[in-house]
Amino acid sequence: MHEFTPEVEALAKEVLEYSLIRLRTDPPLDGPKTAQELYELAGNTITAKGLGGHEALNLFKDVLAKACISTDHPRYLAFIPSAPSEYANLFDLVVGASALYGGSWLEGAGAVFAENQALKWISDLAGMPETSGGVFVQGGTIGNLSALVTARNTFREKRKDVSRWVIAASSDAHSSIKSAADVMDIGILLINPNQDGSLQADSAAAAIDKYHSENPSHQVFALVATAGTTNLGIIDDLEGLARCAKSRDIWFHVDGAYGLAALCAPSVRPLFNGIELADSLIVDPHKWLFAPFDACALIYRNPKLAKAAHLQKAAYLETLDDEDEWNPSDYAIHLTRRARGLPFWFSLAAHGTDEYAKAMERTMEVARDAAEQVRNHKNLKLVIEPSLSIVAFERVGWERADYEKWSDQLLADQIGFVTPSAHKGKPILRFAIVNPWTKESDISAILATL
Ligand SMILES: *Cc1c(COP(=O)(O)O)cnc(C)c1O
Repeated sequence: MHEFTPEVEALAKEVLEYSLIRLRTDPPLDGPKTAQELYELAGNTITAKGLGGHEALNLFKDVLAKACISTDHPRYLAFIPSAPSEYANLFDLVVGASALYGGSWLEGAGAVFAENQALKWISDLAGMPETSGGVFVQGGTIGNLSALVTARNTFREKRKDVSRWVIAASSDAHSSIKSAADVMDIGILLINPNQDGSLQADSAAAAIDKYHSENPSHQVFALVATAGTTNLGIIDDLEGLARCAKSRDIWFHVDGAYGLAALCAPSVRPLFNGIELADSLIVDPHKWLFAPFDACALIYRNPKLAKAAHLQKAAYLETLDDEDEWNPSDYAIHLTRRARGLPFWFSLAAHGTDEYAKAMERTMEVARDAAEQVRNHKNLKLVIEPSLSIVAFERVGWERADYEKWSDQLLADQIGFVTPSAHKGKPILRFAIVNPWTKESDISAILATL
């Protein structure tokens, strides 16, 4: 049936061999080049006759891949790194070879069934009801937006007298929350967190009530809590905020893109108490659950409300709308989707959940050790005791430019990738440790340059 010619066969061997080498060995960190530099090295790659698979692969190996930072390198500690398990990466090859359609049960029942079990592991850890459910979307940004669109839709049906819909969140909430408000053309009430950086129920309640009394025709319809801020790993008061939201008939959404992964880590599970009250939550397996890009688990307490908001209606789609079948397309802003939850599912199914807890605890052990190393370093000052796996600190006496220069040099020397951030207006450095292969000695190697 397929034209799997000897030429394709030969290329298959080359591609698999390259993939295996990439998986087997720690690649160099590598780093970006300018478009001009890349053009000089790669030239125009799109031609009428084609380069041939061998040539195109070589171009990728020798030029393009080297201009991409390896996000799974144990000393890539900037932003939030990625640390897919070998199993997850290997299974991504299978997903790529399988032409799966992940949007509907009719087409992808087996894949969707498996994805849903992986989602259920997360919703069970959170203590959500049996009837909860959701979908893997591209990332936390789309997850947050889809959840908030569901929330607004739910309230819009009930309240026709509202002139402006508004969400409430900590001023330290992730940029994607503000972006969602922009996209939805709604207001956002930003509330100052406490001194320790967490949003607390009393501040949220006071701010929301004050806002409503000053703006009688506006309605705060969702309160967003962050379970692990990206910058410092701070967890808002989930239990208190949940009650604050419930008592005001407001949707409670928890953005745990980074931090909620630690629901499976017994040592920190109590920090997330109250998560069981969420109307919706997100967590990115591509961040701290050892899955490759791109996968965000979006889970709703009542998925029917999500379907009411997101189901696309079109003549050619009507055949798909069967009450008893779970169509992942119906639960977020998307239609066609790859079965992006499968690499995560495979790794989880193959390793078992205990391994996940262990790997998670290991990253936090390294984070605690890193904090200790920072405390013992004469030039450094810890910004905050890490509650999860982010370690933030200052280099005493440095200006922003010093941080930038150091960071560039660290990458140029291929020692590590750590970028400056800011806290309370001051530049800081932060290590985000999500890779179980990051060792205490990796941290020491980086700290030795400070
Ligand atoms: C990373 C992050 C997001 C955005 O997720 P993407 O997958 O990058 O779109 C949202 N919220 C928090 C708290 C995050 O850490």
